[in-house]
Amino acid sequence: MTDQLSPARLRVAPSPTGDPHVGTAYMSLFNLAYARKTGGQFVLRIEDTDRARYRADSEQQIFETLRWAGLPWDEGPDVGGPYAPYRQSERLDTYRPYVERLIADGHAYYCWCSADRLAQMRAEQQASKQATTGYDRLCYGKTREERAELPGFTDEPVVRMLVPDDVDLHFDDLVRGPVSAPRPDDQVILKADGFPTYHLAVVVDDHLMGITHVVRGEEWISSTPKHLLLYRWLEFPEPRFAHMPLLRNTDKSKISKRNNPAARLTWFREEGYLPEALLNFLQLLGYPPVHEETEVATFDEFVASFEWSRVNTVGPVFDIDKLNWLNGHYIRSLTPDDLARRIVEHLQQTGVWPAEPDPADVELLTAATPLIQERLGLLKEALPKLQFLFTADADLVVADDARAQLRDDAGQVLDAALAALGGLDSWDHASIEATLRSALVDGLGIKAKFAFGPVRVAVTGQRVSPPLFESLELLGRESSLNRIRALRETL
Ligand code: GLU
Repeated sequence: MTDQLSPARLRVAPSPTGDPHVGTAYMSLFNLAYARKTGGQFVLRIEDTDRARYRADSEQQIFETLRWAGLPWDEGPDVGGPYAPYRQSERLDTYRPYVERLIADGHAYYCWCSADRLAQMRAEQQASKQATTGYDRLCYGKTREERAELPGFTDEPVVRMLVPDDVDLHFDDLVRGPVSAPRPDDQVILKADGFPTYHLAVVVDDHLMGITHVVRGEEWISSTPKHLLLYRWLEFPEPRFAHMPLLRNTDKSKISKRNNPAARLTWFREEGYLPEALLNFLQLLGYPPVHEETEVATFDEFVASFEWSRVNTVGPVFDIDKLNWLNGHYIRSLTPDDLARRIVEHLQQTGVWPAEPDPADVELLTAATPLIQERLGLLKEALPKLQFLFTADADLVVADDARAQLRDDAGQVLDAALAALGGLDSWDHASIEATLRSALVDGLGIKAKFAFGPVRVAVTGQRVSPPLFESLELLGRESSLNRIRALRETL
């Protein structure tokens, strides 16, 4: 397939305004998939022209989380590339000449209206329920001096597009086919602070960076006619557009960082989702399952199957249960050593463990990982399940619900377990199991279902634990006996 498609250049262009949004990963996934499918490039551009909303640490978070998610870019602010710089705030000189040209050609004009005047204009438009809203072109055709005579003047002008009456509101979308958008206002393209707005910068940069396919969220459909005007006025060839459906909560509302923690990309890392699961999940939000028989598909399988015409147009529902299921699937498909490595990374990343953890802890965790792999849903659940292994005997707390379920014969069971295990030659799970079975089930005649409960409660402090005999083996003879003795003494 690849040889029939010319190498495409795509980009994701997040604004560093806070914690990266999960939508940035979703967009990146589809951009990257098509770049890989065609043997082209995927570019990361930082759109930081909105200085009021700019957050200094956000850019670094974008780099870290996208890389963690397995969405690497071929060109970008931190890796460079032939079209550097990839940060819009470092490209201000680039935009100026285009603004001058649009003004000279009569496609753009200065506007000196103050914020107060614009607010008043909008209020009047609303009150009069006028059909046409938007800028009333008070400044259009006036010199600075002429305009200064009128009220609501500011010294520092902005530059606006002169959107013609016959603006073309239709375009062809790769995902949606023919699309029509509402008529745009005379959009500001250069702000009073000398920064371009998104609309100008995005067109100039997509052109200069050789972007062939603009893939972004559907919230930008209404902006596309403005962008197309700029492409035509500046005589830039038009890229193809694909507008992805917005991610939605289960109640169909738009996902925002205010209403859903999962809107923050960093949340997935904190919770302990595997990047493979997240990518598979994001793929399913925008695309039908790659295989008929299963929703599980790797990134490479997704790339191989990829076609724009198959992308969903209906707002996909963000179903965390599906993600949890996928995460469990991917966790079980890792080798235990790989899973242990991911758990350790997660503990370091979330600060539960130090950056340089004790090698003995890492070794113990690696040995214990096979005990929890089958039932693990999220990486963050791993250490709590194994906490008894990382707790000193004296600090082990027996949970109330665990103690409450001990039966009257618990003391007798623990005595028998102590006697049997104390004399055991080899401390491996098979020998431990055989010994306990013979002492408790055969010796005391207690049903297997009840026989081991007191030992479990003694060594783990919990009602539910990883497989008991393997847990005892990892804990070691001394600690195991100490703990059984300690519980016995409290009965
Ligand atoms: N900076 C825009 C954003 O934050 C990019 C939109 C686009 O891809 O054109 O979503």
